[in-house]
Amino acid sequence: MLIILLFLLGLAVGSFLNVCIHRLPAGESVISPRSHCRACGETLGPPDLIPVVSYLWLRGRCRRCGAPFSARYALVELATGALFAWCLAVVGPEPALVRALVLTAFLVVVAVIDFDHQLILDKVVAWLAAAGVALNLALAASPAAALPLLWDMLLGGLLGGGVMLAIAVVTRGGMGGGDIKFLAALGLWFGWQLTLLTLFLSFVIGGAGGAVLLLLRLRGRKDFIPFGPFIAAGAFVALLYGPALVDWYARHMLGR
Ligand SMILES: [Zn+2]
Repeated sequence: MLIILLFLLGLAVGSFLNVCIHRLPAGESVISPRSHCRACGETLGPPDLIPVVSYLWLRGRCRRCGAPFSARYALVELATGALFAWCLAVVGPEPALVRALVLTAFLVVVAVIDFDHQLILDKVVAWLAAAGVALNLALAASPAAALPLLWDMLLGGLLGGGVMLAIAVVTRGGMGGGDIKFLAALGLWFGWQLTLLTLFLSFVIGGAGGAVLLLLRLRGRKDFIPFGPFIAAGAFVALLYGPALVDWYARHMLGR
């Protein structure tokens, strides 16, 4: 039952993320004006804004001028709903679920904007970093646990940003400034262990994803493939399965 609720919450949040995804790269406000049809300017009323359902009901067209809305809006909503339900299934109804949902929402925004524009916005990364520090401290077990936590966050940020910076230098720009800052912000969320895991997963998923794009000829050998979506995918896996993986690794490989 709760999982259906989380899915619906994800649909609604996904609808807001669509607004962020389409307005932030243009430097527009995400609060006003209300959502409107890009073709005729018709303001969308509450019934038009019901996620996915309104898209299917209106067959993906504006009710006034008939201009098609991109199916992407509904896809982002469905994806966010599914990811939110996934978070609940793994994390459970714990305070930490809030942290997982917030990070997931950020990952969707960063991944889709980077996919569209080959751009990771400083503004989004700054909010991501601030939200991570605030939520980590809010969820700290005790005030005494806050100081080591702060050090771990700092270490994670330096590790994530540092490794990406080193790759950018070695590959002479194979990694953009946005990717470096994105991983530094994720480092603050994760601390050093899960940041290492995120880096590892990003490159594994990125390598596999790049190979598939080349094989299916969706991208040529010389085309630029944005790396942000792969980092986001790696971070999502690290968020949900990282603690268990680190634990397993410590017990089996290090014999602790
Ligand atoms: Zn219209």
